[in-house]
Amino acid sequence: MPARNKGTQKKIVVAIGGNPNSGKTTIFNELTGSRQRVGNWGGVTVEKKEGIVEHRGYRIVFVDLPGTYSLTAYSLEEIIARNFIVNEKPDVVVDVIDAGNLERNLYLAVQLIEMGGKFVFVLNMADMAEKQGLLIHREKLATLLGGPVVFTIGHRGKGITELLDEVVKVYEGREKKSRHLHVAYGNELEEEVRKIQGRIRTDRELTARYSTRWLAVKLIEDDSEVKKTIEKESARSSAILTKGEESRKHLRNIFSEEPESLVADQRYGFISGLLQECISLNQMERVDSSQKIDRVLTNRLLGIPLLIFFIWLMFQITYRVGAYPMRWIEYFIELGEIGIKLLFPAGVLRSLLIDGIISGVGGVAVFLPNILLLFFLISLFEDTGYMARAAFVMDRVMHLIGLHGKSFISMIMGFGCNVPAIMGTRTLENEKDRILTILINPLMSCSARLPVYVLIAGAFFGRRAGNVIFSVYAVGVVLAILIGRLFRKTLFRGESEPFVMELPPYRIPTIKSVVIHMWERAFIFVKKMGTVILAGSIVIWFLSNFPIPRDVATVYSERVQSIEEIYRVRIDELKKSAAGYRAEKRALNEEKSSLIAQLQQERASEIISQSFIGRIGRFIEPVFRPLGFSWREGVALITGFVAKEVVVSTLGVLYNAGGEAQLGYSLRKSSSLTPLSAYAFLIFVLIYTPCLATVAAIRQETKSFKWTLFTILYEISLAWVLSFLIVKGGGLLLSLI
Ligand code: GDP
Ligand code: MG
Repeated sequence: MPARNKGTQKKIVVAIGGNPNSGKTTIFNELTGSRQRVGNWGGVTVEKKEGIVEHRGYRIVFVDLPGTYSLTAYSLEEIIARNFIVNEKPDVVVDVIDAGNLERNLYLAVQLIEMGGKFVFVLNMADMAEKQGLLIHREKLATLLGGPVVFTIGHRGKGITELLDEVVKVYEGREKKSRHLHVAYGNELEEEVRKIQGRIRTDRELTARYSTRWLAVKLIEDDSEVKKTIEKESARSSAILTKGEESRKHLRNIFSEEPESLVADQRYGFISGLLQECISLNQMERVDSSQKIDRVLTNRLLGIPLLIFFIWLMFQITYRVGAYPMRWIEYFIELGEIGIKLLFPAGVLRSLLIDGIISGVGGVAVFLPNILLLFFLISLFEDTGYMARAAFVMDRVMHLIGLHGKSFISMIMGFGCNVPAIMGTRTLENEKDRILTILINPLMSCSARLPVYVLIAGAFFGRRAGNVIFSVYAVGVVLAILIGRLFRKTLFRGESEPFVMELPPYRIPTIKSVVIHMWERAFIFVKKMGTVILAGSIVIWFLSNFPIPRDVATVYSERVQSIEEIYRVRIDELKKSAAGYRAEKRALNEEKSSLIAQLQQERASEIISQSFIGRIGRFIEPVFRPLGFSWREGVALITGFVAKEVVVSTLGVLYNAGGEAQLGYSLRKSSSLTPLSAYAFLIFVLIYTPCLATVAAIRQETKSFKWTLFTILYEISLAWVLSFLIVKGGGLLLSLI
């Protein structure tokens, strides 16, 4: 290259990183030949080598970083390598990886990726890898790492020109494989990362200079250098560092493990998932216990049946084991009712307490054990590491709808509660994937819907209730897949983003973490009972008891009086004919009481049907009549828009019964539901808008009013149509049998 060109030539600065003995120096020498400058890194005795290459019109300056296994702050080499990348911001980072030692070498790669920037991944020692019989899928690896992969054999100079070409291509932004990605650390850690990031973002300077995510992860790892940097450079350092400490404490508390090892586990999980995808399975000889378990649980044939079995087991346990503590709670509620009857005279206040608050809130409180159990089991899934496998196994199925396994995690989380599940979709980087995942999430049946299922299935399906409930959940999953596919084909055309499913090692969950999760959920549930459900019950009680129709009261008291009168006369007549007097008198008295009880029942339902809610109910009844629901079920579905537990408390108030057994009995006796329309009711509850909080979460996460409204509309129409088909189709089937 003529000397006069030098000044105008564009310069690319490239850092070469990699593990010791990966062949970095060999590659560096092959690249730069004799044009090297050897010095020291500022103030220390670690050797710094720089070399210049001219290629395709660029002056490429290569800097050989010290070889390291990691990028923590434990050694001088690590700090030097890291600081160079953070402070000098090289245009491209070349990571030299020993292809024969992939797993260990990728640990550094993952940390480099986390720092952000543009990468070329060099798989050196390609000859050694070949000798080991490793089959590495280069395209796939490049896609998943987010940068091109070049195979080299350093000491023979093989692949060096290609490496230079890739450096230029990446620098110019012409490399399609280049993309930014990060390791997902799992819900618990991600939440802390987000919180710390939030704190860091209050400092504009820091935010401009560093990747906030990287800083946050480093604070969770308690990185001394990063802490020093923040202290030095930020006026808000104490607030940020305190937040970091809080997060570490919280994590240590939950997992009983040092946060840095949690982070490391997750990185190895990423690598493990990556290798599963990029290396032919029969070539993977490293067998440890996690991998042995994975041979069964993520097996191509067994994986999905096992997953279905575990989910089935989860709902069986939830329903069956939950039944015992449920009875104790019901017993307490009955005691409360008796106490109130002793303390308060019959009247509006007593009616409010018993028919409003106890029927409503009590009716929901009995489901606390079910919900705790469900969350207990879901956190077992998460904490053991099985959840990640479930996603891995479902990856193929999810591809049917153009999504990948990661979306499935948010779907399983949806079994607990749709709100965090929808927020959890933030780990998906592609916007289309994210919105699609959000739109189908409400079809995953959350724990708030469980009380409705337990109540209705218990009332109408007896011993088969557990299976009926499981089938409702299954319908939800199948619908999510079908609807997802439909939306993918119509609204969200395109390919899903490639990704790595992190497969962290299996671990035995700590009691503490499980208890903390359960407590958090229990607290939310109890809070909901004290607020939304209490208020809802009172409103519904009021609407169903007022206005008091005067004429009804007088008509009925007159009818009661006339019955009393008739029976008094008949008993008087009995006295005259003394034979068998006692027995006949008792029979007459019994007849009288049952007539009066029947009248009172009629009166109560007459009052309710003339009340505000009765009028509203009759107004909307035509909408639900084709589905076989009476106006009471209709009202319950409408109030259930606020939260699904309210469906149960509304039914409790409208049928004048608290407690699962009692309400179930009333439903069987006096509702218009048949087993078929009861099932249609369950499906309706499954599909239509879960609750206001979910609507708010959808609005927040999609940032779109249009998608929010769309979700509500498609859910309600789908719910109605499917329930209708069940009632009509089922009726047809039954008539054929
Ligand atoms: P560094 O510690 O990363 O700088 O590694 P070096 O460049 O010093 O290389 C370590 C050893 O690996 C040397 O003996 C090299 O000759 C050898 N080496 C480098 N690249 C390759 C390769 O592609 N294949 C094989 N078989 N050996 C290599
Ligand atoms: Mg070296």
